[in-house]
Order: sequence, then C-alpha cells, then structure tokens
Amino acid sequence: MNQFSMTINGSRVSTSSGYDVLNPSTGEVVGRAPLCSPQQLGAAVEAADRAYRTWRGDESVRRETLRAIAGIIREHAAELASLLSLEQGKPVTSFELGDATTEIEICAMYFDYYADLDLSPEIVPSDDGSRIAIHRRPLGVAALITPWNFPAYLSSWKVAPALLAGNTVVLKPSEFTPLTVLRMGQLFSQALPPGVFNVVAGDGSLGQLMTTHPLVRKISFTGSTVTGKKVAAAAAQDLKRVTLELGGNDPAIVLDDVDVDQIAPQIFNASFGNAGQVCTNIKRVYVHRSKYDEVVEALAELAKSVRVGDGHDPRTQLGPINNRPQFERVRDLVNDAKSSGARVAAGGSAIEGAGFFFQPTILANVSDGTRIVDEEQFGPALPIVSFDTEEEAVARANNSHYGLTASVWSSDSTRAASLLPQLESGTVWTNAHNRFPLDQPFAGQKWSGIGAENGRDGLLGYTQIQVTHEVHG
Ligand code: NAD
Repeated sequence: MNQFSMTINGSRVSTSSGYDVLNPSTGEVVGRAPLCSPQQLGAAVEAADRAYRTWRGDESVRRETLRAIAGIIREHAAELASLLSLEQGKPVTSFELGDATTEIEICAMYFDYYADLDLSPEIVPSDDGSRIAIHRRPLGVAALITPWNFPAYLSSWKVAPALLAGNTVVLKPSEFTPLTVLRMGQLFSQALPPGVFNVVAGDGSLGQLMTTHPLVRKISFTGSTVTGKKVAAAAAQDLKRVTLELGGNDPAIVLDDVDVDQIAPQIFNASFGNAGQVCTNIKRVYVHRSKYDEVVEALAELAKSVRVGDGHDPRTQLGPINNRPQFERVRDLVNDAKSSGARVAAGGSAIEGAGFFFQPTILANVSDGTRIVDEEQFGPALPIVSFDTEEEAVARANNSHYGLTASVWSSDSTRAASLLPQLESGTVWTNAHNRFPLDQPFAGQKWSGIGAENGRDGLLGYTQIQVTHEVHG
C-alpha cells in the first residue's frame, strides 16, 4: 500500500500513526495518510517562520517560483488527476459536470495567474512634495485549511496568492482527501526553499492547533459555517487576520419568460456538478408557477440520463458522494423531504453497492420550511419550489443565513439584471451560474464568509498595508 508523507521544512516526514484513505466509489484503500503530531506541527510553523525572513525579500524570485510550480503541476497532471479521482470520487474527465483533470489544470492556471499579478505600491497625491506610498506587505506564516470537495483547487487558490505576497505557508487538507495535496507538497518542494511551503495532515484537532499557534499571523479557511465560526473565534484571541469561505444555500430564480429547453441543462450542470458538492452550486430553484411543471420535467429527464459511476470509468459523468457522513446527510434530507410530502420526479434513493452513490434526485412539491430547501444539502439532490411574484421570489431567496451566490434566469436579460442588486449574495449572475474567471473576486455575504479570494482582492487578503511617507527637506 502507498504510504504518503508530509512536507516539513523541505523534507518528507512520515509518522508512526496514520490511517487509510478510502476510495468513495469502491471502499478500497487508496493510500495511507500520516497524522501530524503537535510537535511536528510546531516544527512546520517554526520552519515557515524562519523561511519567511528570506522569502519575503525578493518579489521576482517569488514570481519565478510560482511559474516553476505551474510547470511542475502540468508535468505531473495525469498522476495528480488520477490520485484526486481515486480519493475524492470525481471523474478523471467529464468536463461539463466537473472533473479531476480540469481541477488540476486550474491549479496550474492559478500559479501562472498570480505570478503575473501586479503588487506595486499605490502613490497618494501630496501637496507638500513628500512621497506617500501604500505598500502591501506580507503578514508572515499563513495557516491554510481546506475541505474535501476540491482538495487541489481550493488549496492552490490559497497557496499561490499567499506565496506571491511573501508569506510562508502551512497547509492542511481535509482528512477525507489529503493524498493529492500531500503529493503536491513533495512536488512543489523541488522549486521552493525549505520551510516556505509545508503540508501537514490530520483532522479538525490539528486545524484547531494551527489556528491557535502564536507564530501564525494569517488564517485562510474554506469549509463549513459551523467550523468557520470556531476558526473566527480562535483567530480573534490573537487578532490573526482571517479569511473565511463557508457554506451556501444558493438559489436560482427562474422567471416566467424562460426558454426551458435552453436553461434546464445549464441549471442542471450548475446544481449537480461534482455530484452537488460545490459551495456555489444551485441548491434550491424557485420557478414561476406558469413554468413549474415544465422545468421539473426537464430537470428530471436530465437527472435520469446522467451516468453515475466510478471516477476511473471513462463513461462516468458523476461520481459518488465523497464520504459516509455526507452521504448519510444527503440521504436523510431526501428522506425527510419525501416524508414531508415531496414528489420524487427523479432518483430519490441511494444506489446499492460498496460506494457512496446516490441517484441524481429532483424533488417537486417542496417549499420553504422543508429541511432540504432551508439547509445546505451539498449533494446530488435538488428541490424545485414554485413562486407567484418576483418580489416574493427575491424575499424567499434572501430568507437564509447564507449569502454566497445566486442567479436569475429570463429571456429578458435587462429584467433579470434588475433583480440582482436585491439579492443578498456575494456573486450574482443572470442566465448563468458558477462562472469564475481568475480575476473575478469571490466573497460570501452573511454566514457564507468574511473577506475575498480570487483576483487582486484575493491577493490583498494575504497582505497588510504599510504607508511610507517620505519628507524630502
Ligand atoms: P469542515 O468545516 O468540516 O472541514 C473543513 C476543514 O476544516 C477540514 O480540513 C477540517 O479538518 C478542518 N477543521 C475541522 N474542525 C476545525 C477546527 N476546529 N479548526 C480548524 N480547522 C478545522 O467542512 P467540509 O465538510 O470539509 O467541507 C464542506 C463545507 O465546505 C460545505 O459547507 C461547503 O459549502 C463549504 N465550502 C465552501 C467553499 C467556499 O469557497 N465558500 C468552498 C468549498 C466548500
């Protein structure tokens, strides 16, 4: 069996304790992950703190290094995509519904993108001839903590801007999907000075130690809102800077003038991509009553036709749910909806077998007040709710603690766009969902997060302002 190791201070570090990471399609062991001890975490943070003193110095070296990492990812793309598919479950290739190959390609794109992003100081106009400049300085050691739905992508999303800004990193992937990121740690260390990029492995107790370590100056966390609140509380004790990308219960509003054949595939893909395990996926659809039956039927047909299976089978479009707790959660939410009177238009049950497979499920005749409408399901089951007026649809979409993304669908794009400012979500689209160009910032409102990632705003989150004011006398 393949034993994976951590990367601490540029060296491969294994542990006597560890655990088996399972393939969610088969239940077979993919590899053995190490479990980082508190002493090893201390060594990683101290190595990052030492490396910071040099790493922060030369921006051009950092840019070259980021380009080198992009090259390393591309060189090892096939190996990384295969491993990612084995531990996470997503197909190796299946572009429209999310796949491991695309996830790895995007990681390389992030490193190239940040390698070229401008970080030069901003000059403040001055009346008296003095030179005032706003510099963006690094913060120090950054603790980066990521979830299991996009292990490689969400890690790269943080690592590339953190390193470009001059910080050093200790990264912890989810305990459900640590292997691809552990392998990336080994590969990247070919291009990085020791201590600049450390990868440790463990569960929430290790994450908690990272967020309370006195040498950590920045925390960037992606995961559930429940954990995000604990991270925020830990950060507050020491006023560590913190970015939180948390859960969502993202609504789509479908107006009465849509062309159902045109929008249904887009809504389906934006809801079922990555087997529904995307923070920004459409999680509830509000459809005008006049189009309700037609939309339910179109989405149900798509759900019945999609091929669910092992990520390494080239015919597979949708993989399994990644882990048992999440599988049980989706199953319970669907059962709760059924017992509350929902009509199952497609799917509705787990698929028998060794893996955590669930039939792509469309639920009709559901409404607010049912758990699967009110809570984040994070799986392949979508409730469709009817409405009568636009005002009512907007109010119901906003009636949530979450505020991550939302979309409005209409044949009249001006009409759709007029609703966007009323939606309490960080990213809102008309006639699209889940579009994220690299330079578009991503920031959750309400319980969906604090701060931004992606683009220049994402980079600035790994910096602090220093104003230099030079008086020339
Ligand atoms: P989770 O909160 O259970 O775990 C996320 C990470 O936090 C893991 O690495 C875990 O080990 C670690 N952790 C657990 N307890 C901790 C603690 N007390 N202190 C520090 N770290 C701790 O989330 P998950 O189940 O892995 O991910 C699914 C959730 O993530 C969903 O709610 C989803 O919406 C959200 N998510 C959000 C985004 C976004 O960008 N907004 C992206 C992807 C996923």
